[in-house]
Amino acid sequence: VRAGIRHALEAGWNILTKGGAAIDAVTAAIVILEDDPAFDAGIGSHLNRDGRVQLDAIVMDGAGLKAGAVAAVERVRNPILLARLVQERSEHMMLVGAGAEQFAQENGVPLCGNEDLVTESARAAWREWVEKNNARPGNLIKPAKNTDGADSGGGTVGAVALDSQGRLVAGTSTGGTRFKYPGRVGDSPLIGCGCYADVEAGGVSCTGHGEGIMKIVMAKLAVDLLRGPRMLGTPGDAAAAAQARPVATPAFAQSTADAAVRMLAERAGSAGGLILLDSAGNPAAAFNTPRMAYGVVESDGSLRIIP
Ligand code: ASP
Repeated sequence: VRAGIRHALEAGWNILTKGGAAIDAVTAAIVILEDDPAFDAGIGSHLNRDGRVQLDAIVMDGAGLKAGAVAAVERVRNPILLARLVQERSEHMMLVGAGAEQFAQENGVPLCGNEDLVTESARAAWREWVEKNNARPGNLIKPAKNTDGADSGGGTVGAVALDSQGRLVAGTSTGGTRFKYPGRVGDSPLIGCGCYADVEAGGVSCTGHGEGIMKIVMAKLAVDLLRGPRMLGTPGDAAAAAQARPVATPAFAQSTADAAVRMLAERAGSAGGLILLDSAGNPAAAFNTPRMAYGVVESDGSLRIIP
């Protein structure tokens, strides 16, 4: 997982240092993580109850607030690239299932087989689960509450980037929770839940138990917290308005990440985490799952991978 994060950071940073666009950095980083079977995204994703991979992804541009998302796609290797195409070429914000795959074909994205996305270990985990739970279609059972991939390698992937021209972009990609009901879509591809970006405040990508994250619309919550007192406005008071600028400090970014995860625990009784960059590029991360791996490229170009 650490190696995958390192490669993703390098790919993104390589683009940014050459003056490239944040959207290119975010999608390049996420493609690497989708192609790495250590993560629950693209190849190596968790299987659903029926033993199939169903992928969700979103990318959001913080300048125009336009997102592009796909959900429950089964034959696309890099759903983040398809989400980007939806963002750039579609009048819509989200396409799902067969329609998303039709859009892929119409826009020159080749479809793969669902089996091409399935790794040996994901298949073995599914078989074991089917046997243990006597699971078969029509036999309703509670899916495993996998929130962090703790016993099966990495989880959902995401990236946030701010480029030299001040463009701020966030993205998220996932295979969703293990053994989810077919057609189940979690927080990840939903604007405001698994991802949000506004250049005036910050960008966020989330992971964790989607059903909890959706309850508190966590990515949007974190971005709105980043706005600070300015969000409340100061009608008729120009001096106060001038003071109430976004508080873009490392400490404020960290308190914001912590507050969002605290709300997830307290109000939704749920587990998850997030990474964020505020509008000045201060990074922060927080989680209440057993673990969450992430990394940052510092402004001097050095990489920090945690843990
Ligand atoms: N948030 C993802 C989902 O609920 C899963 C994860 O992040 O592990 O689909």
